[in-house]
Amino acid sequence: MEWSAETDCFTFALPHFDKPTTKRGLLSTIPRIYDPLGLILPVIPLHNYKLPIIIPKQSHPANLIIKDQHEKIYHLGYKSTLCAIREAGYWLTNSLSTVKSYLREFLPCKRLRNKPAAQQMGNLPEERLEKTAPFTRIRTDVFGPRYVKDRGTENKKWGLVATCLYSRAIHIETLEEMITDCLILALRCFMAVRGPVKTIVCDNGTNFVGIRNNFQVS
Ligand SMILES: [Zn+2]
Repeated sequence: MEWSAETDCFTFALPHFDKPTTKRGLLSTIPRIYDPLGLILPVIPLHNYKLPIIIPKQSHPANLIIKDQHEKIYHLGYKSTLCAIREAGYWLTNSLSTVKSYLREFLPCKRLRNKPAAQQMGNLPEERLEKTAPFTRIRTDVFGPRYVKDRGTENKKWGLVATCLYSRAIHIETLEEMITDCLILALRCFMAVRGPVKTIVCDNGTNFVGIRNNFQVS
């Protein structure tokens, strides 16, 4: 290296660099030609500034750091995660696409971002579509027992639910006992309030079968 006192210039001789023309090769060659003393630094060290720790992409430590920082910022997006990683003092190589590809496969996030599955439905039966007055066609079922306190003693009661097939309106009748006669009474009460019924759809429960047999005999 030489210093010219007249022009106040530094001059230096360069050896021949035979580096491969990869990105990394170029980056290491350029500062050796233009800044061999390191006067022009890529990063200006400020007060209390620490150079980040370089972590190679798609390595186990890189994955752990991404996961940790992503959870610390409560599952924000990939850009926020990247900022958090840099603030924590790490420098991932090829950082943006590394963080992106990691978060794309990160299971808790994947589960939260997914759309809920749509229910597959068959065609509705004709009774559901035919426009009728409320409770013309109904579907019934019995639920219970429920324990009800009546004058200090606890009794079992059941309920008869009747839903209108067209309007989906609901009617509930009380059953004193779980026998066919009570069920017939409850249906009679229901019809006294809601009017005559054309169709009753029900499951194959013992009491419903009992009602059918009753009507067939009489
Ligand atoms: Zn997440």
